[in-house]
Amino acid sequence: MAPETLLASQGVSYVPDLFHYNRRKTRVVYVGDVAVGGDNPIRLQSMTTTPTTDVDATVAQSVRLVNAGCEIVRITAPTLNDARALGQIKKALLAKGIKTPLVADIHFNPECAMEAANHVEKVRVNPGNYADSKIFKTKEYSDSEYQAEIQRVEERFTPLVLKLKALGRSLRIGSNHGSLSDRLMNRYGDSPEGMVESALEFVRICEKNNYYDIILSMKSSNPKVMIAAYRLLAARMAQENMDYPFHLGVTEAGYGEDGRIKSAIGIGSLLNDGIGDTIRVSLTEDPEFEIPVAQQIAAAYQPSAEARGLRTEEKNSGLGARASELGPSFSHVESFYHYARRPTRALQIGPFKIGGDNVVRVINDFSPWVDSFPDGKSVAIALLELIQERLTAGKETLPEILVWTLATSSDVQKLMDCRKALGDGTASIAFLGRFKTPALASQAIGAIDLAYCSDERALDDFIKIAQTARKPLLLEVSQTPESGLTPAHELLRQIQRCEQAGYTEVLLSFNLPKPSELIAHARHVIAELNKTSKTYPFHVRVTGNPSFSDLRIDASIGFGSLFCDGIGDTAQTGRGVDPNQDLALVYNVLQGAGVRITKTEFVSCPSCGRTLFDLQTTTERIKTQTGHLKGVKIAIMGCIVNGPGEMADADFGYVGGAPGRINLYVGKECVEKGIPTEEADNRLIHLIKAHGKWVDPK
Ligand code: SF4
Repeated sequence: MAPETLLASQGVSYVPDLFHYNRRKTRVVYVGDVAVGGDNPIRLQSMTTTPTTDVDATVAQSVRLVNAGCEIVRITAPTLNDARALGQIKKALLAKGIKTPLVADIHFNPECAMEAANHVEKVRVNPGNYADSKIFKTKEYSDSEYQAEIQRVEERFTPLVLKLKALGRSLRIGSNHGSLSDRLMNRYGDSPEGMVESALEFVRICEKNNYYDIILSMKSSNPKVMIAAYRLLAARMAQENMDYPFHLGVTEAGYGEDGRIKSAIGIGSLLNDGIGDTIRVSLTEDPEFEIPVAQQIAAAYQPSAEARGLRTEEKNSGLGARASELGPSFSHVESFYHYARRPTRALQIGPFKIGGDNVVRVINDFSPWVDSFPDGKSVAIALLELIQERLTAGKETLPEILVWTLATSSDVQKLMDCRKALGDGTASIAFLGRFKTPALASQAIGAIDLAYCSDERALDDFIKIAQTARKPLLLEVSQTPESGLTPAHELLRQIQRCEQAGYTEVLLSFNLPKPSELIAHARHVIAELNKTSKTYPFHVRVTGNPSFSDLRIDASIGFGSLFCDGIGDTAQTGRGVDPNQDLALVYNVLQGAGVRITKTEFVSCPSCGRTLFDLQTTTERIKTQTGHLKGVKIAIMGCIVNGPGEMADADFGYVGGAPGRINLYVGKECVEKGIPTEEADNRLIHLIKAHGKWVDPK
């Protein structure tokens, strides 16, 4: 039986209540003086990128991290010399009055872990490679062979457990997607289930030795996999009466906007579910830049935020009393651990079909920008220029469904002039008419492709107008409906009114200021609709935040959580001031959530003491040459120790093989070894061409 089916049949969920926020109950684990888990703040951490044996550089970078707000600093220890250097780093930091705990990052080498434990407050091991060589061997394991391997791991891991226990150190057992042991890969595949079982094998060895100062992580560069793995782990913990805190992270998230978005999708969605006690945002940038992003993602979920009343909205929304009644009816309970898109009926909106199996379409509200033009013809010219510029730059991230506010007859005239000037077929654009009154709607419904009822008191009139004109209607509810109902109950009431009128061409949406509210109310409505197998499509809108950088985080959390649960047929975010910025944001978040791919996907490691080339400049260089290859996934990894495993499902890999030398991969197979760095870019492009994935840039 699939694990999720088994868990569901036993009534075990990854979270006690899907409909309002509850932080997962965990024990408190101390990393030095920093308490992780329980009701403590969500701790922020990062990792140095300097060679560990360069003690001065590592100390200087650690100081910069601490000054930026980093509460736990991780440092790699690939060799015994590195592990010994941790002692000097610790001493130097203490001499500067810095007591921030250090974590040794260990892969493969138990001796390094034993040495590092003498110097630092916590040791991180990867159960996929600690005491296990990784040769990607395919083999059927009999139960006795499998047990014999676990026994061998136990013999090698137990000395570390006993040492950590004796010294009062803590331990992170960190599974990574793509670096599971051959034993687990053969039994479970490279799956969330395998990641969870990999960690549990090590947890059981710890518990056998009465050692409980454990934190767990389940990282992946794919937010969907990472979300599923942590949820499954939380459910398995509940099932086994374990309460260890979790460290959250999306590995190899990349850099710039894409790296921030991917991190916020994975980490933020889980924090919103109440999962996560310490986080690391992993960017291919200097590590101190990771901390402000981590602060932004965690802000709304910190205990201090709750104390300030920032997280009370769902509790006051009236959902609580009904949560237990709704939970079992939420048919997506299985897809919490495996992605599946919610089945919805298709709607025609101008030239686009939305819902069903159709691609997720974007809706943009450029109102402030549109208002800056004197007439509809000027708007059309500006729109066509915008589209042409984007196409010339090789981007297919174009405006699709535009919101147009229609409050007066002159607004209607402006829209009609715009449509006329756009001509037929020049631009595939649909218009969502936000009519202020039913009178305007009946006058101008012919000019739009989707009508929006902005006055809930006039809902019946809007329904009649849309029905007569055979136009679909967007039902969108905001935070305080005039009916006095909660947003979810108001939306359900509006759906019922449409059904009573025999009208079902509706797209559902909320306009709520916080992603946490959107997620809670969307889940509530979907749960109710699932009871009677209703499949109205859903529009995911996150537009509430005035600051672009906060909006980017909010949109990633709101989109990430819902789209990764398979909910959403259209998407909207942005501030309406700069169309290029809004279009980049909405498409980037959809790409980060893996629901609409419009460009090359880059996976790049954050670099660490093992890195063999400059990750930042190399990633930038490769991106410049290959950034037009839509749908191709390219990994740029600093070393062969972890790189090949952790790049997981990339199509091509550019991996540091030795100083000045690069290894190239197709999938997980190394196809060219030891290429001089100067030749590696061309050889990578040649490889992409040889596999039929190259197109010339436009
Ligand atoms: S892939 Fe190698 S270089 Fe990059 S972060 Fe991981 S261990 Fe460090």
